[in-house]
Amino acid sequence: MAFHKVDYTKENGLPVVLTTVDKLVQWGRSNSLWAMSYGLACCAMEMMAAGGGRFDFDRFGTIFRASPKHSEVMIIAGTLTKKHAEFTRRLYDAMPEPKWVISMGSCANTGGMFNTYATVQGVDRVIPVDIYLPGCAPRPETLQYALMILQKKIRKETPRRKQKVKRVV
Ligand code: SF4
Repeated sequence: MAFHKVDYTKENGLPVVLTTVDKLVQWGRSNSLWAMSYGLACCAMEMMAAGGGRFDFDRFGTIFRASPKHSEVMIIAGTLTKKHAEFTRRLYDAMPEPKWVISMGSCANTGGMFNTYATVQGVDRVIPVDIYLPGCAPRPETLQYALMILQKKIRKETPRRKQKVKRVV
């Protein structure tokens, strides 16, 4: 009688994968984050550079889209004015669930140096923000790092995430 002995510690581990459906779904989602580019001011230049070949976001499964209906992540880069806030909210509402937001740069985070009557003092007054990216302007590498943090965050979430209600401006 043939006797087979397999040492799994030397054969790259057990030939089975143990996980939950939730984890599998979130793993898939985190590795195919299509981002809606939403450039509003100078931070948008860095975001555009991030989309170039040098930083290669495609290898993370992140592809920039110009349509909210195709996107899961809104990267809002730059200064948001009160006049524009309504459109930001409308675009966010058009994105399918689940969705995430990266606020890129000091202006998007807090209004930055523009403490004026016309500037929204943080995009989280209009839409819920998941990642705040500091800097004026943050480099493409920082945006890449923020996306990687968002991927980790998504992998820990449940597939049906609840949105927090936020005030509009
Ligand atoms: S944070 Fe700096 S670079 Fe970004 S939009 Fe504001 S002023 Fe421009």
